[in-house]
Amino acid sequence: MPIPPLKEQFAALVAAPSVSCTQPGWDQSNRPVIELLAAWLGELGFACETPQVAPGKFNLLASYGSGPGGLVLAGHSDTVPFDAALWASDPLKLREADDRWYGLGSCDMKGFFALVIEAVRPLLQQPFRRPLLILATCDEESSMSGARALAAAGQPLGRAAVIGEPTGLRPVRLHKGIMMERIDILGQSGHSSNPAYGHSALEAMHGVLGELMALRGQWQGEYHNPLFDVPQPTLNFGCIHGGDNPNRICGQCALEFDLRPLPGMDPQQLRAIIRQRLQPLAERHQVKIELAPLFPAVPPFEQAADSELVRLAERLTGHRAEAVAFATEAPYLQQLGCETLVLGPGDIACAHQPDEYLQLECIEPTLQMLRRLIEHYCLQPAARP
Ligand SMILES: [Zn+2]
Repeated sequence: MPIPPLKEQFAALVAAPSVSCTQPGWDQSNRPVIELLAAWLGELGFACETPQVAPGKFNLLASYGSGPGGLVLAGHSDTVPFDAALWASDPLKLREADDRWYGLGSCDMKGFFALVIEAVRPLLQQPFRRPLLILATCDEESSMSGARALAAAGQPLGRAAVIGEPTGLRPVRLHKGIMMERIDILGQSGHSSNPAYGHSALEAMHGVLGELMALRGQWQGEYHNPLFDVPQPTLNFGCIHGGDNPNRICGQCALEFDLRPLPGMDPQQLRAIIRQRLQPLAERHQVKIELAPLFPAVPPFEQAADSELVRLAERLTGHRAEAVAFATEAPYLQQLGCETLVLGPGDIACAHQPDEYLQLECIEPTLQMLRRLIEHYCLQPAARP
């Protein structure tokens, strides 16, 4: 299968549907994208593995060269759901206008893979001293199950990993984690005329809210990182549901909240601390209190400022590595021993939005940067920071 020119690759990737979503009605297989990439990369001499992570969901690991070390260029093959009515044109059909390529996944981030292929093609005549791995994951936009499966498998991927999420070609070495949790309180309902007839879940929830706000204050005192726009960890009460009648003791109450820990805070530990603080409330109110994640936490991410990859990326881009307000698969690649950085073309502001686009002016700088990274990690005799 001959590899089409860059724009046609872009168009084919945009046209291959790969929505991932926690709502089953929206969720799609990412197989079409994985098959396209595996065919093109196979044609270039890459060895391709496409492990199935869940029914219809695949990762792609395409490697060129072998041995330890090397570079990982990574991204996700899925997109968010879309509302075609809000787009100026068909979201699955690449459209060029205003020096931009419009299409779903053009910027976040199927287009990145076409740029990686374009960057690597002219380098393949040279001997690769260390391997290049191109990694495309599934379900980044929903459960991150693709990256989680890789982390769980524990197979080392390379010395350095660059995730090409849209950062406007600025290196990103920190982001917060994301935890979305639910607290269920089960009390006992009864006639409101006598408090002894029941155990109010709502009154227990009042205590829970107080404890969580106290914890939030404590954590915001303990943790502070000026590299973030919002320099403290945050905890947001998103929704609460409980009770049914003013004249009935409330038997059930549920709260959902979002907690964004800073690097250095461990989601498992935070959950254990919350549980510990809620236990006395359960006893005092004689209710059952359960805390459970709505989905597995994304850990916070920090790559050391003085690591080789950060220094190299700062030199190549002319920008100091910074922090962002969105989460990525970076912590999972880091768990596999890669120095990891988020660095890719495009503007995150247009990701997850109608009329998502990639500016054509960022294509050439992206290709140059990717080639420098490949040269440094795969072609040069010794890796020098
Ligand atoms: Zn993305």
